[in-house]
This record gives sequence, structure tokens and C-alpha cells, in this order.
Amino acid sequence: MKLPIIYLKAGKERSVQRFHPWIFSGAIDKINGEPADGDVVKVADGGGNILATGHYQKASITVRVLFFGDAMIDNDFWDEAFAQCFAHRRTVGFPSKETNIFRLVHAEGDSLPGLVVDVYGSTAVVQCHSHGMYKARQAIAESIVRKSDGLIKNVFDKSSETLGKNAGNDFLVGELIRDDYFENGHRFLIDFQSGQKTGFFIDQRDNRELFSRYSANKNVLNTFCYTGGFSVYALDKKANHVDSIDSSKKAIELTISNIELNGFAGEEHNAIVADVMEWMKGNEGAYDLIVLDPPAFAKHMDARHKAVQAYKRINRMAMEQIAADGILFTFSCSQVVDRELFRNTVTAAAIEAGREVVILHQLTQPADHPVSIYHPEGEYLKGLVVLVR
Ligand code: SAH
Repeated sequence: MKLPIIYLKAGKERSVQRFHPWIFSGAIDKINGEPADGDVVKVADGGGNILATGHYQKASITVRVLFFGDAMIDNDFWDEAFAQCFAHRRTVGFPSKETNIFRLVHAEGDSLPGLVVDVYGSTAVVQCHSHGMYKARQAIAESIVRKSDGLIKNVFDKSSETLGKNAGNDFLVGELIRDDYFENGHRFLIDFQSGQKTGFFIDQRDNRELFSRYSANKNVLNTFCYTGGFSVYALDKKANHVDSIDSSKKAIELTISNIELNGFAGEEHNAIVADVMEWMKGNEGAYDLIVLDPPAFAKHMDARHKAVQAYKRINRMAMEQIAADGILFTFSCSQVVDRELFRNTVTAAAIEAGREVVILHQLTQPADHPVSIYHPEGEYLKGLVVLVR
């Protein structure tokens, strides 16, 4: 079968030669053939040399590159790709005795743009962000099982969250099995069928560990707590008291279950359904350790300004409220707010709060969320740990 060929404008081949995995519509000179959304296409320079093979989609990012060169996207291709993902995860320590929750595929960071796969025990949860990956989902699921060395028995498709209600929400392989899920030895209930994202925010694993090291004897506020990850870690390291806040009742129920599952249920923890801004208003000086981990305030460039204002507001409030010499863990997972903008925003918040603030740590996502050096856009999680005098 002859695949459609996308010819690039003169000069536009350079970014492909530098391994950047996206072809924008503006770089295209002409298309030979009539590709449909999700079809595999070749990418060529003006002279007809094939530079890449990828998934087509009629959108601003028109091709997501799967291979820099001419390749067949068949079962062998997927097998090689997932064998490499498992090998890379073993290199960085996953799974382990303490952790059976990890990200197996981080899109461009694993040379598989449009695909995210998270592992929970014996189940892989697949989330397609492109039509191409969605079309290939069955082959992807079977290859993941084949290449997992017996680890993965079930594959669930969670693409309904990314591609709309008609997509996903089905087992591609196996069935619903509830294992015990562990992160750094802490147990968590995970509802990958109806939870947010693939069910858990795996990307905060290392940051939760660091957070726990500051927790002993502290009064802790965990805002936007979702499943209560930061709270479980803090209680484990003998926090004096932890308040977990989320506006979602379901999140608070999950938090309470996870706190109990880890053996804490007494007076040391409170889980509260509330808006974070409202909650922070009346609590001056009550907390010595605060985590701010809001949802992505901006998913697109046009929402960036508003998002920056929102980050500034919550950070200012936290810095005004926190006790003297308190420690604030503050995060942004918005892709369009880069590290520098985030830091400037936190600086503006500090100025408005009128407190002396020093940076202790600069945080990011863990090693199972790798970033291609040619695709810095893949670095989405930014965090600062600051001491507020
Ligand atoms: N820190 C979490 C992940 C946060 S996800 C973890 O480690 O797993 C963001 C959470 O913010 C969601 O659970 C959502 O329900 C909650 N949320 C969004 N807007 C909110 C608001 N204004 N007040 C309180 N919670 C909010």
C-alpha cells in the first residue's frame, strides 16, 4: 500500500532533522494523496527524500513523528517501541517492591507522540491524544502485554477523557482486576475508570517524597489534594496535623479512604470539601507547610494571561497566610506556562505578599516522565519550594 507523502517547504526540513517530532501545517508545501485523520504518512523534503513516518491529523500539528526515516508502523514497530519503554523504566527503577504505579509511555519523551500509558499493578491504562494512536489502540494494547514480561495482564483505554465521550472506556485486553497499588510503599486506591487523568497523579511521586522530609511536627495544608497523596506522605513522617482540601466531594472521599488505608484516621487529619481560595482566607498563621498543586489553569496560549493571574493570586494568599519560616511547595502543570514565567509569577506573588522569600528547591517531573531534549515542550511540571520568612 502506498502511503500519502507530505512534502515540506524548503528549509522546513531542518526541524525534522533535529528530531523535533511535530510537523506544523505551515511547514507543508503539498500533500501527495488524501490522508484521513489518524492515517500513517511519510514526510519528505522538496527533493522527495523521506525524512520521517508519522500520524496525520488535520490540525495545527499535522504530523506527529513516530520514526525519523522510512518505517512500517506494524506489530514489529510497536514491539520494539514498548520493549524500549519497559527497558527504560527498569533503568530508572520501575516497577519495584515499593512502587507498582508508574508511567510507561510519556508521549514525545518516549518517541511516541500522542500516547500516554500509565501502569497500575497488572493493568496498563492507555490514553490516546491523537487519532493515529487511537486507531492503533488494539495493536498497542497487545504489544504492551507481549513486551511486559508477564507484568501486564489488562489494558484499559481511557481515551474518553482526551478524545471525547465516544472514545475509550473499555478494556482492550483482559478485565477489571483490583490489585494493591503502591507508591514508595504507601498504598493508594486508584479508580482508573472514572478518576481524573488515568486515575492518579504519578508525576508528583518524587515531590511527595521530598515534601514528607519537611513534614515532621508540622501543621500541614494540602490544597487541591485529589487522592490525598501529599497528605499520606506527610502523616507517615509524623506531621502534627494535616488538612486536605479539594472542591470535589469524590476527591475528598478518595483522600479519606487513602488516609485510612495507610493506617491514619485519627485526629491528625481533616479532609474538607472547599474552594481553596475561600479556605485560605481565614487561616492566617495556621500552617507551617503548604502545598499548592492546582489543576492546569491554562491549557491553551489564549488562556495564559488569566492563568498567570490565578497562580499569582493563590501564591500570594499562601505566602500571606503561612506561619513565619514556613515552607511552601508550589506547582504548575500548565504546559503554556514555562519555568521562567512560573518563577516570575511566584516572585510577583512574593512581592505583593511583602514577605522575604528564598528558593530551596526547583522541582520537575520524575524519571518515568522523560523529556526529549529536542522537545522541551514535554517538560510540563514546574515546582518551587520556598521558605517564607
Ligand atoms: N495534588 C494532587 C493532584 C491535584 S489535581 C495529587 O497529588 O494527586 C487538581 C485537583 O484540584 C482536583 O482534584 C480538583 O478537584 C481540585 N480543584 C480544582 N479547583 C479547585 C478549587 N478552586 N478549590 C479546591 N479544589 C479544586
